[in-house]
Amino acid sequence: MSSLFADIVGQQMAVSLLTRALEQGAAHAYLFSGPPGVGKTEAALAFAAGLACPDDGCGDCHTCRRVLEGLHPDVEIVSPEGNFIRKEDITEINLHAVYRPYEARAKVYVFLEADNFNIEAANAFLKTLEEPPAHVHFILVTDRPERLLPTIVSRCQPVTFSRVPTPALAADLMSRHGLPSSDAWLLARVAGGNLSYARELVKSESARRERGLLLDLARDLPRASLMDTQVALDEVMATVEGRSGERAQDLEQEYERALEWAGDARTKSWLKKRHEDKVKRQQRRLHTLGLQTVTRVFAGWYRDLALVAVGAGTAALNQDRLEELRAMASQDGLRGYTQAIMAVRKAQERLRYNVDARCTIEDMFRAIKEALT
Ligand SMILES: [Zn+2]
Repeated sequence: MSSLFADIVGQQMAVSLLTRALEQGAAHAYLFSGPPGVGKTEAALAFAAGLACPDDGCGDCHTCRRVLEGLHPDVEIVSPEGNFIRKEDITEINLHAVYRPYEARAKVYVFLEADNFNIEAANAFLKTLEEPPAHVHFILVTDRPERLLPTIVSRCQPVTFSRVPTPALAADLMSRHGLPSSDAWLLARVAGGNLSYARELVKSESARRERGLLLDLARDLPRASLMDTQVALDEVMATVEGRSGERAQDLEQEYERALEWAGDARTKSWLKKRHEDKVKRQQRRLHTLGLQTVTRVFAGWYRDLALVAVGAGTAALNQDRLEELRAMASQDGLRGYTQAIMAVRKAQERLRYNVDARCTIEDMFRAIKEALT
């Protein structure tokens, strides 16, 4: 069973709780919470596989593999359409949940970005959560549990994820990706506890290039002319949009493989729908991840300037840019660095609400320039 959670790094508490639940009997509802990029969604799918698998979660059978790919008829993945998980979605789930699973041991519903239930949907969901059918499990995944109705939270077993500690992250990059120790530690620091970002930096040349570009922009922004700022804005938005195409091909191949075992026309059309949902979900995720990367890199740069200014350079995230940071940082700038970080935080908050991303980043640039000139 351990192989099911083999990809989850630095989350011993969560993994042992879930492993025990699979061995001893699982509750009907779980709330997976914690910062972005630490493996919540992966753990939710692994746990769902464990619940559905005829072999207590072997991680390797047909059922497990299909669940992990998000293509099993008894494991439904629900994510917001636009801003919200809507009442229509929940009504449909309530209707279907009462039927026995098609083939698995249990029926599992995984809600991604579960803090986006609108109020009608939350109330409709609450009814099912109060008296769930015996064969049904719900897994709610969120990085903002405080936005869920307390009545929902209280009916879920909490599973808390945390930032991956730098040593655990570095060890994973060495053992899994074969990175030499110095590179592994550098990337683990840069990623600041975010496992997905660390792995992306290892695997993708374009992610590393993008990081360099964003750091340069953060560095040059205070002195940039109006025109340079517009160019920078175009570049930032291009890094965000550029991600979607990259992984679309992987999904197509996975879909082709899945079609091979789909027998009749009905299964094929079901698979097509599932695939389309998955593509939509991935695009949404990549867009969000792109924006998160932009704001994280910007906040990291100004945070590092502040740290270097007070002589705490060893705590900086961007250890590979320490010389530049030392040349630029000054004690007099501390107030400005703090204001710049606040401007980034404000943009992060706004971006959560699906606002106009370009406009939000533009406002952030303006506020940073004001803070630092
Ligand atoms: Zn299995």
